[in-house]
Amino acid sequence: MKITLLGTGSPIPDPNRAGPSSLVASGSTTLLVDAGRGVILRLIAAGVMPPFLSGILITHLHSDHICDLNDVVTTFWVMSGPGSTARLPIYGPPGTKRMVASMLEMLGEDITYRLNHHDDLNDQPPVDVYEIAPGDIATIGELTIRVGATDHRPVHPSVAFRISDGQRDVVMAGDGVPCDTLDELLVGADAYVQTVIRDDLVKLIPVPRLQDILDYHSSVEQAAQTAARANVATLVLTHYVPSPAPGTEAEWVASAREHFAGTIVAGPDLTTLELN
Ligand SMILES: [Zn+2]
Ligand SMILES: [Zn+2]
Repeated sequence: MKITLLGTGSPIPDPNRAGPSSLVASGSTTLLVDAGRGVILRLIAAGVMPPFLSGILITHLHSDHICDLNDVVTTFWVMSGPGSTARLPIYGPPGTKRMVASMLEMLGEDITYRLNHHDDLNDQPPVDVYEIAPGDIATIGELTIRVGATDHRPVHPSVAFRISDGQRDVVMAGDGVPCDTLDELLVGADAYVQTVIRDDLVKLIPVPRLQDILDYHSSVEQAAQTAARANVATLVLTHYVPSPAPGTEAEWVASAREHFAGTIVAGPDLTTLELN
């Protein structure tokens, strides 16, 4: 199983970090988890052509996690060959159907232009949306996905995905603070990928709207404590707030190290991790 951090940034724009999105791949199955700013550029950089995506998992409907979903859907559609029967399943919490329907409505004029222009393009963008709830289990290709609740209140519902290829399990936790349901989902997993904020740095920024983010994101320390409780082998930090200058991720790892003895991964966009 291979995990790629496509985008490690946050809503705060950073020229070096795309918005939140990750890949989990095993065998011939490749899942995209969230679709933040610039996801298509990073997907191509990771060597994955959009039509080869097996599915998309959405942790929650905050804009930074979905703002370039329309680009993924359009590119999947127009790059698929003539006669392609491939479809793109999208799994997300309640609200995802309305979001995708609205997105396709936004793309309506473009869809009409392309259908009228290309004789070999005859069908609407081939997306299937599934709204999932904690406890649900889904299968996409060779990967099994178990859904767990996260605590990102007042954003609700929000979910984490435990993705297994039968050999290795990774939990893609998304945003949120530590909670029992995430702990349960993590039991026995190999790797845990968590959005993290440096609360020590954010507290220094005198902007009320930034202070608001402190109460619904895990700090580096909290993520490390969650990883230690679950006894996972590997903690992966991503979606950094504030964005570390390139090459300074080691500070974040050092903060996590005080609470977690396992492997800790943090890095730039396109950082990859193989679970063997
Ligand atoms: Zn969020
Ligand atoms: Zn976020």
